[in-house]
Amino acid sequence: MGLSESRGLGPGEAPSERQADEEDEAVAADPLLHMEARKGHCDTARQLLAQDPEALNSQDASGRTPLFWATEYRHESLVELLLAHGADPAVRDHEGNLCLHWAVYVGSPSIARMLLDAGSDVDALNGQGDSPLHLAAQERRYECLVLLLAHGAKVSLKNRAGRMALHCCKPSSPSWRALEAASARPPHPAERLLCRDISRGFEQVPIPCVNGVDQEPAPGAFLYVTQNLVSDSAVLPATGWGRSQHCECASSCSAPTCPCVERGLRSWYTPDGRLAPDAAGGTAEAGPIYECHMLCSCASSCPNRVAQRGLRTQLQLYRVPGKGWAVRTMQEVPRGAFLCQYFGELISSAEAAQREDAAYSFVVDMQAGPECCLDGRFYGSVGRFLNHSCQPNLLALPVVVGHEIPGIAFFSARAIQAGEELAFDYGERFWEAKGRRWACLCKSPGCRYRPSREGPTADAAAGDPGLGTSTSYPLRGFSRKSARSSPLKTAPRRSARPRRRPLR
Ligand SMILES: [Zn+2]
Ligand SMILES: [Zn+2]
Ligand SMILES: [Zn+2]
Repeated sequence: MGLSESRGLGPGEAPSERQADEEDEAVAADPLLHMEARKGHCDTARQLLAQDPEALNSQDASGRTPLFWATEYRHESLVELLLAHGADPAVRDHEGNLCLHWAVYVGSPSIARMLLDAGSDVDALNGQGDSPLHLAAQERRYECLVLLLAHGAKVSLKNRAGRMALHCCKPSSPSWRALEAASARPPHPAERLLCRDISRGFEQVPIPCVNGVDQEPAPGAFLYVTQNLVSDSAVLPATGWGRSQHCECASSCSAPTCPCVERGLRSWYTPDGRLAPDAAGGTAEAGPIYECHMLCSCASSCPNRVAQRGLRTQLQLYRVPGKGWAVRTMQEVPRGAFLCQYFGELISSAEAAQREDAAYSFVVDMQAGPECCLDGRFYGSVGRFLNHSCQPNLLALPVVVGHEIPGIAFFSARAIQAGEELAFDYGERFWEAKGRRWACLCKSPGCRYRPSREGPTADAAAGDPGLGTSTSYPLRGFSRKSARSSPLKTAPRRSARPRRRPLR
């Protein structure tokens, strides 16, 4: 049967099929590599593979390859090693399971991600007719479930019992709601998975890209980055790291004892790493938040380290008719949660003015230095795909993580449902500049810039901030060409300067 000794039934197995004695015999007779895969010994596995490369995809009495065992025992490094040696993720055990079924069954999103990256079929059915999505629903593996949904797993598949994944989980549970949201989407012609991860593995959670609308391929005219790049010496901070402000807190950083928290003029984060409720409302003064950084003596678990932990939410890049690319969350997001940062090239305003396409530039305030711009045109992150909404579910706040180089972080302004598009308000100045040529397509009841009857033209109306008509490349992200047009700058300039410690 090929079951582990430590656990009950595996995916696709009927209870009567289990016979412990047989299993023990099978285990005893297992080839060496299978045994090592169970134990997770990478070095030994490497040696065995060198001696006998054929062992890699050999199946034991239960039809399982070493990859199955490494998966079931959640040995991530070994799964990585076996895949790197060419282990085949399409092999099925005698119950018809792929390794992917097992990864989901034991609840390992990181192994499931590796298997999907290696080309595993997201909709494969095992002997019971269960897809990995069925198992994720049954076993309450929420992280795996949203990962599969983001990879375009079909929600309509029925198992042998005639049940869809939605029927395999508790009604009104988070998994149920995520499946329900996916089932309720307008029936686009089958959404094609264009790319498993636009971040090429650089984000902790993959960002798949799907298109069920047109023939547009996955966006490729930029390089995905997970840090800001400083390409222009004019924006380098005037002070060296040695004089950079940091804290020496021994325990948890909080106001009024931590200078980093104090520098933000208020406590922006709650102890559990959310944006403070009064800040999440969306109208609060616009930061910046000074997070603790690598010169601070506090632990990585410090509550004043939030944006720097990076993306943790399962997102998906998808195509919207008339709007181009958009970003949605595949899982529920509580109010005040950090979603992602806007990364790009940090350039001076002068340099930004020289650049032809300002579609992806975002003005940031250096406080201590010159005004500058984050341009996501050539180097950027998922933030560059966020569209505008007049009733946004995201809030953009400037955040400084170490030294004086600013960034932009997005937080949820309210609780967000699975499947919702993520958007933020580009700001009045944006629309003052663009409103004559473009109309807003956010369709929210409070839309301030909806298309008027006589104009703009249909073409131009299609050009929400997300879509330019004058260029073949979609104009999306933050279009704040002039330094004056940043909504961040429209917030009252706070009297931060006198309170900051002198830098010299
Ligand atoms: Zn501190
Ligand atoms: Zn700290
Ligand atoms: Zn600190």
